[in-house]
Amino acid sequence: MLPRAKKQFGQHFLTDRHYIDRIVTAISPKAEDVMVEIGPGPGALTAPLLEKLSHLDAVEIDRDLAAALRARFSPDKLSLHEQDVLAFDFAALPSRFRCVGNLPYNISTPFLFHLGEFADELIDATFMLQKEVVDRMVADPGTPDYGRLSVMLQYRFAMTRLFVVPPGAFTPPPKVDSAIVRMTPLGAERLVAQDETRFAAMVMAGFGQRRKTLGNTLKPFMTAAQISASGIDPQRRAETLSVSEFVRLADCRG
Ligand code: SAM
Repeated sequence: MLPRAKKQFGQHFLTDRHYIDRIVTAISPKAEDVMVEIGPGPGALTAPLLEKLSHLDAVEIDRDLAAALRARFSPDKLSLHEQDVLAFDFAALPSRFRCVGNLPYNISTPFLFHLGEFADELIDATFMLQKEVVDRMVADPGTPDYGRLSVMLQYRFAMTRLFVVPPGAFTPPPKVDSAIVRMTPLGAERLVAQDETRFAAMVMAGFGQRRKTLGNTLKPFMTAAQISASGIDPQRRAETLSVSEFVRLADCRG
């Protein structure tokens, strides 16, 4: 029997076998993978993952669900970290890792930023999120969904939306569609900003007032003349800039 879902932990439990199978197939677990599942809950993904993996780490904040998982899976198979994933130190895993989960939607953006800090250790990630958030993650410049989340994630990851999961696949059903997204860290050839703090601050400022021109929003960082000298028209708005153009602007100190 499913436990009662707790709203404060964003609990919507996957119950549709068809979608559970599709998600596990998309993850394609291999016995030797070092994998961590975020929010295993009652174990809809945990159990089929553990059929393929020799071992799984999982991070769950809900102590009742954690107790039930401990009773069900041996500690040799499942290492359960009973804590808030936003404070989880992914660097403590034994090696580079894969990450999966049907994420609690109320913390999805802060979680993605937290995971981004460990991108060098991450092999890939497959997550279920609100479809609207996935659309923002994968959005191209010049489209309405393109924003800070798109730029900051596409700076580090290649991202693909795999498929949509309807509310009826969960108990209780959420109000919105969900989608599966695959994130793969970009290789060593990716563009790296000289000062990543400045890059992140400029992206945030650019999208803080997305209707304003770069000449306006980036004033604390550079003059309109410096923006022009980087080959970018200061009359443009942040939502039209590619990730590499943001990096170019952040690198311009002249
Ligand atoms: N994986 C299960 C499934 O698919 O049925 C549960 C998914 S439910 C959408 C999200 C899960 O994340 C819940 O088990 C919830 O308790 C857990 N969770 C919520 N906030 C969390 C946090 N800050 N850190 C770790 N786990 C969290």
